[in-house]
Amino acid sequence: KAGLSKTRENLASRIEKLFTGTQKIEEGFFEELEEILLGADVGVTTTLQLVDNLRQRAKKERNVDTSFLFSALREEVIKLLGEEVRQLNLSPSPPTVILVVGVNGSGKTTTAGKLAYRFSRQGKRVILAAADTFRAAAAEQLAIWAKMAGATLIRHQPGADPGAVAFDAVKAALSRQADVVLVDTAGRLHTKYNLMEELKKIRRVIERELPGAPHEVLLVLDATIGQNALAQARLFKEAAGVTGIALTKLDGTAKGGVVLAIAHELNIPVKIVGLGEDPEDLEDFRPQEFVLALFD
Ligand code: GDP
Repeated sequence: KAGLSKTRENLASRIEKLFTGTQKIEEGFFEELEEILLGADVGVTTTLQLVDNLRQRAKKERNVDTSFLFSALREEVIKLLGEEVRQLNLSPSPPTVILVVGVNGSGKTTTAGKLAYRFSRQGKRVILAAADTFRAAAAEQLAIWAKMAGATLIRHQPGADPGAVAFDAVKAALSRQADVVLVDTAGRLHTKYNLMEELKKIRRVIERELPGAPHEVLLVLDATIGQNALAQARLFKEAAGVTGIALTKLDGTAKGGVVLAIAHELNIPVKIVGLGEDPEDLEDFRPQEFVLALFD
């Protein structure tokens, strides 16, 4: 909840002001609500849909007051996000392979590291694979996380074939009976085509080595870029077969409303949120708690 303070300020307090300061529900009220939602990066499509649903509900009711509309808004948002916590897919027969994808700077390596830390703390044996072989720094960063998490790091020389790293990681997991393999990948966007082809290739290597894997393709998106995250998601969704989203840096942004747009427009569940730079700053995304944190 503390991690969401900026979005809260931007969204919740403005909504509160609107609802407490309004006597009669008129068109101006809905327009202002629209403006507030857009300002929190909920996005045009999702905002219009939400406010339209509220208008309809207001029309149906006889005595519409602000408290009715406030709980209606909360209900609509929860409906949009889905009530259930969507957890990472874990394979019933380990190892589980999780492919972590996203553009550079989104928080990919950090998220892979935090997940390694989390799984280790659950007593699981974890392998971290440095399949971003373009940036030497990425492997170095992952090595630090591996050490902190007590995970095994699989890395090759800079410039090596990322598919070979993934192959070795899965092989190592099978022979060492590891529980989870987290594969950190490259994320350069100016070579979009190559990047997507490379991700496909890594996928194929993993699939061949372990049928049914990868069990999760986690797309890491930086919440601070707001609506631009949607464009990134669309790109990766097709090429990489994304099965879940990790939304990072929610602690540093007032644009947390982008979660709603992602849920509404992409049809990929947000599974994980990043709320800081420390190993513990990673949580399962809980729609109900999220909504309560923003509108209480
Ligand atoms: P990558 O290039 O996608 O692998 O991104 P990194 O994992 O290197 O992260 C880029 C920067 O974002 C680093 O400085 C991280 O510490 C920071 N970062 C990652 N996740 C979060 C988060 O949830 N909150 C905050 N505040 N910073 C984060």
